[in-house]
Amino acid sequence: MSSAALAQSCTGAPVSVQVLGSGGPGHNAARASASYLLWVGGQAKMLVDIGGGTNYRYAQSGAKFPDLSLIAISHLHPDHTSDLPALFWSGRQSRGDTLAIAGPSGNQTAPDFSVFLNRLFDPKDGAFQVLAPIMTGMQGNERVVRLDPKVVDVTRAEPTTVFDQGGMVVTAIGIPHGPLPTLAYRVQTGGVSVVFSSDQTGTNPKFVEFAKNANALIMHLATNMEGSPLHASPAVVGRVARDAGVGHLILSHIGQFPLDPAVAEVKAAFTGPLTVGADLQCTPVR
Ligand SMILES: [Zn+2]
Ligand SMILES: [Zn+2]
Repeated sequence: MSSAALAQSCTGAPVSVQVLGSGGPGHNAARASASYLLWVGGQAKMLVDIGGGTNYRYAQSGAKFPDLSLIAISHLHPDHTSDLPALFWSGRQSRGDTLAIAGPSGNQTAPDFSVFLNRLFDPKDGAFQVLAPIMTGMQGNERVVRLDPKVVDVTRAEPTTVFDQGGMVVTAIGIPHGPLPTLAYRVQTGGVSVVFSSDQTGTNPKFVEFAKNANALIMHLATNMEGSPLHASPAVVGRVARDAGVGHLILSHIGQFPLDPAVAEVKAAFTGPLTVGADLQCTPVR
C-alpha cells in the first residue's frame, strides 16, 4: 500500500487528532519522527512538534498552512523540530498574517526557544537567512507569514496558558526528560481536551494532574522495555494514563523493539481504549 493510501481524512469529526509522525529518533522505514495535528471543524488548527519526515506527512494529511493557528514545540531534540525550516519554506507565501509558535525556556543544555528561532532565521546570523522574512512578515513588498514566538518557562510548577483564541485554549507544563527543557501541551476546544505528553520519564505527579480526564492522551514510548533516564517504561506509561483517567490513550514515538510486549505492559495498567499510533492515522475525539 502506498503512503498516500494510508492517509485518513481528519475532516469528518468536530475534533480529531492526527499522528503525522509516530516514530522516534531512529531510522524507521514506516514511521516519520514525532509530529501531531489537531483538527477542529475540518481545519488543522494546531501542530505539535515537527520531526524529520513530517513536513511530507503534513502535505499528505491535506492540512492547509493558512488554517494553522498555533505551532507547539515540546523540546529541541531534532526528532521533534528538524522539519521546522522545511515547513516554513513550503508554507511561508501562502499567508500574510501572524502565526503563534511556542516552545520551552532554555538551560545549559539548550537555548531558549526564541534564541533557537533567531539562530535559525536571523537576517544576519541565522543558519537559514533565506527564511529571515518570517521574523518580520515582509519579503520585499510582499507579506509572508510572521512568527509570533512565546517562550514557556519549564520550571513553573503550574500550567502556563500559551494560546487562547477562537475557542481554543492551550496550556503547557514542564516535564522531566533528562536535562533538556521539555513541555507537555493540553488543548481544550469544542468541549473536549487532548494532551500531548511528549518525551518524558512519567515521574512528575503534576503531569497526571495536568492530563486529568483528558478525552485523549498521546504518550511516547522508550526504545526498550525498561525505560531510560529520558523515557518512561511502558508500565509507567500505562500507570500515568490510568491515574489521569483519560478517555483514550494513543501510543507513539515507536522504535524498532518488539511492540506487542510493550503494549501488553501498558494494558496491564490502563484498561481503556488504546490505539497504537501510525503515520497519518486519525482519531476522532468528539
Ligand atoms: Zn523524541
Ligand atoms: Zn526527546
